[in-house]
Amino acid sequence: MKKERNELMEEIVSLSKRRGFIYQGSEIYGGLAGTWDYGPYGVALKNNITSLWWKRFVDDRDDMYGVDAAILMHQNVWKASGHVGGFADPLVTDVKTNKRYRADHLLEEMGVDPKGMTLDKMTEVIREKKIKSPEGNDVSDVRQFNMMFKTHVGALEDDASISYLRPETAQGLFVNFKNIIDTFHPKLPFGLAQIGKAFRNEIAPRDFIFRVRELEQMEIEYFVRPTDWKGTFEHFLAQQKEFLTKDLGLNTSKIHVVDIPEADRAHYSKHSVDHEFDFPFGQKELLGLAYRTDFDLKQHTEHSGTDLSYYDEETKERFIPHCIEPTFGVGRLMLAVISDAYTVDELGGEKRTYLKFAPSVAPVKVAVFPLLKNKPQLIDKAQEVFKMLRKEIKGVVFDDNGNIGKRYRRQDEIGTPFCVTIDFDTVEKPEAEVTIRHRDTGEQERVKISDLLTYIKTKIG
Ligand code: ATP
Repeated sequence: MKKERNELMEEIVSLSKRRGFIYQGSEIYGGLAGTWDYGPYGVALKNNITSLWWKRFVDDRDDMYGVDAAILMHQNVWKASGHVGGFADPLVTDVKTNKRYRADHLLEEMGVDPKGMTLDKMTEVIREKKIKSPEGNDVSDVRQFNMMFKTHVGALEDDASISYLRPETAQGLFVNFKNIIDTFHPKLPFGLAQIGKAFRNEIAPRDFIFRVRELEQMEIEYFVRPTDWKGTFEHFLAQQKEFLTKDLGLNTSKIHVVDIPEADRAHYSKHSVDHEFDFPFGQKELLGLAYRTDFDLKQHTEHSGTDLSYYDEETKERFIPHCIEPTFGVGRLMLAVISDAYTVDELGGEKRTYLKFAPSVAPVKVAVFPLLKNKPQLIDKAQEVFKMLRKEIKGVVFDDNGNIGKRYRRQDEIGTPFCVTIDFDTVEKPEAEVTIRHRDTGEQERVKISDLLTYIKTKIG
């Protein structure tokens, strides 16, 4: 089973590279672990995912405020948030090679569930089961390791100039709470939303883009009256599911809603529920939802000396709102979408590999082909159709490379739902028609050029 899963991941990584979705970061220098670069189709897929998210959670609502905060923040932000003291993973050191490994991962690999274990308990189990490092050596006791990338701002490298690459986008929202209140005077409940990079010095980046050191998050901090947290939590839990299934088209049976026990919750959370997904390497966290209470606003009030309370005009009360945080990892969503779409089947007696993307996320929605590449009348008409579609639809390409069979295979591999071919009938008949070929079934149908735009728009939603 494990081998099959690994083989599937290898095929996904290889297709992602071959077709211009995702490349290893700094590849010509041998790569930099935990970093990945997105090529043209990777960028298009990512933009589709982030746009769908922004539409559902920001543009289609009246209670959400978009923010794009700086990645570098004052060092006291991270003291207040608890990250300087506590943003750490449990690690062991190989006593011979000095390499570090995630203790919870070593336990999982031995079939032990580390959820809820203290550091001492993990050490005890590692000793009891005589668990070794992947190199076969004994390991140290389990210790915490801070995952923030440290840097210095300005020319002086002293303690006062220390800053960190943000390990989450969330704090950029909390520190702008007062700005939004002062500028827009929103009434509770309301939320702040942001998409941006975050950095975590993961000791064991792995599973392609699942666990990386430079990641992108989409986060919301949604502020409520303390008594309203539960209903809001349920609301966002349902919204997260809808985003995964309706917007991204993920297979419902691969999605699992998991309550996080107290011992595994982040220090700020009173209640956490994750959406996990069946990745090729197992069921793992895709995104999260946490009830952060008034922890962050209180901490920032204390550390900054700026009052981050809210005055409720209705009840004439002043208080610190409570906060619900839906958080999404863009890379993990991309991997879920790619691995869910990865399909191998037979078409016309031939084996083929294709990405069965929902049209909403497909990087290319329509490919337009002239049947033959050396017939100017076909090329001209195909260009005309291509330009007409491109004006109205994002993700339309023109392809006249190789024969039609090759073009279909190429478009199948990047998950293009529709291929439109212009043939001699198209240019000769008065009621011009094109052939539309459907990716999943290979079926073809004739559609009038005058109906084409509406036809495709209806199909891609
Ligand atoms: P994990 O337990 O897998 O390390 P986490 O619980 O630390 O994840 P959060 O702090 O809740 O993750 O981060 C919010 C989201 O950001 C996660 O649900 C995930 O989608 C994404 N994420 C977190 N760490 C990484 C990473 N190293 N690589 C890619 N995505 C990540």
